[in-house]
Amino acid sequence: MAKPKVAFYWCASCGGCEESIIDLAENILKVIEAVEFVIFPVAMDFKMKDVEALHDREIAVSFINGGIRTEEQEHMAKLLRKKSGIVVAYGACAHLGGTPGLANFFNRDMIFDYVYRKAPSVENPHNITPKPRTAVKQGDLTLPKFYDTVFTLDQVIDVDYYLPGCAPPPDLIMKAIEAILSGNLPPKGSVLAPDKSLCHTCKRKPTKPEKAIIKEIRRVHEVLLDPDRCFLDQGIICMGPATRDGCGERCINANMPCRGCFGSTSRVEDQGAKFLSALASVIDANDENEIRKITASIVDPAGVFYFYSLPASMLRRRRNIANE
Ligand code: SF4
Ligand code: SF4
Repeated sequence: MAKPKVAFYWCASCGGCEESIIDLAENILKVIEAVEFVIFPVAMDFKMKDVEALHDREIAVSFINGGIRTEEQEHMAKLLRKKSGIVVAYGACAHLGGTPGLANFFNRDMIFDYVYRKAPSVENPHNITPKPRTAVKQGDLTLPKFYDTVFTLDQVIDVDYYLPGCAPPPDLIMKAIEAILSGNLPPKGSVLAPDKSLCHTCKRKPTKPEKAIIKEIRRVHEVLLDPDRCFLDQGIICMGPATRDGCGERCINANMPCRGCFGSTSRVEDQGAKFLSALASVIDANDENEIRKITASIVDPAGVFYFYSLPASMLRRRRNIANE
């Protein structure tokens, strides 16, 4: 019997999601035994034309990681959608926009200006920046258009399921693959992880403050971290109250606070706003000036609260800049 066809594809991401398949360890042999890969850029040399040659919906499932930031990524996402029965937004960047989505605080011109002109390590005496079309004597060189905005996958194509995490952990990957292969699937649109907050299972929960305690927000390098005490109780930002459970508390177990890569639970519309409300409840001040002083001690608050989720948030991007 023919094996179900499976696609793995990367868009605006770091490549870690594709490599997370290797984290399956010996289970990867079961996956290879059960499916036929039709595109998997990090591991196999398939081309776009190989996907184009398939019938519509011939691919059983496409796992697409990364947000959408270029014309080519949009084209590939739409092509894979057409050729696939199921599309899974794989990892934080496809699910929420991820860290590449922090670029939505800027626009394309600002990004190019910094990366190709102002960054301290750049030497660019001829002021060359990437362009969609460049004429050379051999002909025209083309590059995909670079958009002003990073989009989540479901802002560009219809998505069936979401596998959260930076990168998704092996047990959730395996459960998702088994569910898809057996047809034992939850309702369309589900996030394939528990629908409760990370604090719910965190072993530090008994020390999580219920009432006002924080006088100052500190960063991890400024504190000798207690490995058993809730980060919030130590004045350290931990996104656990606004983040979905299911990662196995990977960062917490390494004595680092959660940055929110699993996104929020289904009951929360905006992860950053949810965390802001959780933080407000543990700040120990009623006087406005004192509150300002405490909140001013948060370095890059928008970047911290929306570290993974700016494109998926109610804000989506910074608005008050030209060239959008
Ligand atoms: S805030 Fe962080 S450290 Fe505290 S209980 Fe929640 S996940 Fe654990
Ligand atoms: S602790 Fe938070 S940031 Fe770390 S893997 Fe889990 S959800 Fe992601």
